Parts: sequence; structure tokens; C-alpha cells
Amino acid sequence: MTKKIAVLPGDGIGPEVTAEAVKVLERLQRDFGLKIALETAPVGGAAYEAHKHPLPEATLRLAKHADAVLLGAVGGTRYDALPRELRPEKALLGLRAELQLFANLRPAILYPQLASASTLRPEVVAGLDLLIVRELTGDIYFGEPRGLRTLANGEREGFNTMKYAEHEIERVARVAFAAAGKRRRQVCSVEKANVLETSGLWREVVTRVARDYADVELTHMYVDNAAMQLVRAPRQFDVMVTGNLFGDILSDEAAMLTGSIGMLPSASLDARNKGMYEPIHGSAPDIAGRGVANPLATILSAAMMLRYTLDEPLLAGRIERAVSKVLDQGLRTADIWTEGTSKVGTQQMGDAVVQAL
Ligand code: NAD
Repeated sequence: MTKKIAVLPGDGIGPEVTAEAVKVLERLQRDFGLKIALETAPVGGAAYEAHKHPLPEATLRLAKHADAVLLGAVGGTRYDALPRELRPEKALLGLRAELQLFANLRPAILYPQLASASTLRPEVVAGLDLLIVRELTGDIYFGEPRGLRTLANGEREGFNTMKYAEHEIERVARVAFAAAGKRRRQVCSVEKANVLETSGLWREVVTRVARDYADVELTHMYVDNAAMQLVRAPRQFDVMVTGNLFGDILSDEAAMLTGSIGMLPSASLDARNKGMYEPIHGSAPDIAGRGVANPLATILSAAMMLRYTLDEPLLAGRIERAVSKVLDQGLRTADIWTEGTSKVGTQQMGDAVVQAL
């Protein structure tokens, strides 16, 4: 059956990098039997310019009806003065909420060819391939009550509430175990159960869910130790699953292990594996329109879409191997260029991946 893909290029380098991912998908469609129909709509600042709203009704409708969403990036300094609800970034929050995307998957892969881009020694990180599954719609970011209050002595106090219901923990744990089943079959659940009741429940529920995935090994780690282990010996991890707050921090830490923001894809999934796929980087206004942005994060996001939503693991692997091959050929966009490699632009990089498919 033909699957519908909503393509939302967005702002800045978004359209440039998305165009390359679309080229890759169209080649798979033409030559490798991938049955998809692509439909493009504006989002973020581009949508504000055209429709006075960062997430117009028609874009949201398309995203809701599609099987998957491929997004570039949103944002730009010219929109900074807009009221908060009209800013481009609001479109992302709107899409996540409306599509009920509760699981955020962020792989951190360091291709051996790029090991020198990391700030860690190559022997510690070369070949790193881990996946952080972060809960995206609960935890202290959304918990009520929250606010500021004035104490009896006149001093102000800020407060937020960390909370997770069992079903919220269970559904994100299932995403993590299922993902591990397609990888090296290890899940490390990260929390702070020695101090927090919410974390105690988290550990209990994840342990219970693990019984349904007998072929996956489960371990537990406190978040402070996890932060340390990520820089000490990151290759020990396959899949890490954690809450919204801890995941926010750990996923950025893991991204930096690879040293190249232009290489990292992400996925946000709902309960039926429908997903929104996007590079982790932003709209990079400093290089937008110059044809120098690295399209590989977006191309790898398309590969994740094939793996997690479209159930085409072989084609996903084909894209990932093609990316590895162009790196072997020594092709590099400016952000990952080093002495002795060939510097190419956005389109040349996209063309090379298409060739390598
Ligand atoms: P950014 O990720 O856009 O850029 C950070 C740095 O990385 C810049 O120097 C940029 O040139 C570089 N970079 C990013 N992607 C690259 C790529 N593919 N190839 C080569 N270099 C790349 O982050 P920022 O500068 O903090 O934010 C810029 C805008 O993007 C802001 O408006 C911000 O709100 C928005 N933003 C959007 C998203 C999103 O759409 N998901 C995420 C983060 C930031």
C-alpha cells in the first residue's frame, strides 16, 4: 500500500537539506520499489509568511493524515520579535502535541571515518552507535502544580512537579524494547530511583514491561552515573530509555560525543509508530541559502522513517550504507571537513548518496 509522507521543509537550511532527503526517497521509489506519495506544506516562519501562522490548518491536516512526517528545521532571527504563539518553534510543539508523539528517538552514531570530529579520543568513541529514547510529553516540564509563590517571610519560591503515570512509562518503555530488538538487544533505563519516588515507579514499570521482551537485556542506571558513563565509555550502551528531563540533557550530551550536529537524525513516535522525522539541528541561519549545509542528518532521518514507520528495514540500511560509503569516498560538507578530504556542497553530497544507493 502506498504510504503518504508529509514533507515540511521549514526555514533556513531546512528546505536545502530536505530537498536532498527527498531526492534519496524518490530514487528508492523509482528503483527499489518503495511505495510512497510525497506532499509538501509550509511550516514555521515560511508558513507564517504565507499564512500568518507557523502551523496552518492545512499543514496540520496533512501531517495528521500522513503516515509519517519529514521535517527540515524551523526558526530565524526575523521571527524573534513575534508573539510567542506565532513563533516558528511553536509549530514543532503543536505538531508533537497534536500527533501525540510521546517517544523521542535520538541515535548518536559516530562513523569511524569521522572519529576525529569528537572531542573524545577516537579509541573511546570510534564506532559509537547508541540510541536514546526520551519520553517527550510528561515529567516536570508538564507536571502541575507549577509556578511561583511568595512565602510567609516575603521570599519568592519557584516550584515544578515531576510526575509520571504508569501508562506513560509503559508505552515509552515498549518503544525502547522494540527498538532494542532491532539493534543489539540491550536497554539501559536511566532514572534517579535512589532519591525520587517518580523514578522508583519508573524502575518498577520498566522492569515489569521487560518481561514481555525476553530477548532484550535490561539494566538500570542512575542519571548522574549515566552522564558520567556517556563520556567515559559510551560504547557500552545500545538503547537508553529515560524521562523527559533526564533525556533532554543526556541526548544533547550524546549528540556532542559525535562532534557533528549535521550528522544526527531523530524521530518522534506515537503509540502506533507513526512518526515525525527531523535532523536534530536547527535552521542554521548563519549558513542558510549558501548551499553548504550538511544534508546527511536529514537523509538519515528519512532512513529512520523507513525503519520505524514504513517497516522497510532493508531500504533503511541501504541509505545508511550509502552514507557510510560517501564518507569512505572522502566527501565532506564544510562542517565535517578535515585536511585531506574533499569539500562538497549540500547538493553534491545529496547526489553522492543517491549514487551510492
Ligand atoms: P542550529 O542547529 O541551527 O545551528 C547551530 C550551529 O550548527 C550553527 O553554526 C550552524 O551553522 C551549524 N549547523 C547546524 N546544522 C548544520 C548542518 N546541517 N550543516 C552544517 N552546519 C550546521 O542552532 P541555533 O543556531 O541555536 O538555532 C538557529 C535557529 O534554529 C533558531 O531559530 C532556533 O530556534 C532554531 N532551531 C530549530 C530547531 C528545529 O527546527 N528542530 C532545533 C534547534 C534550533
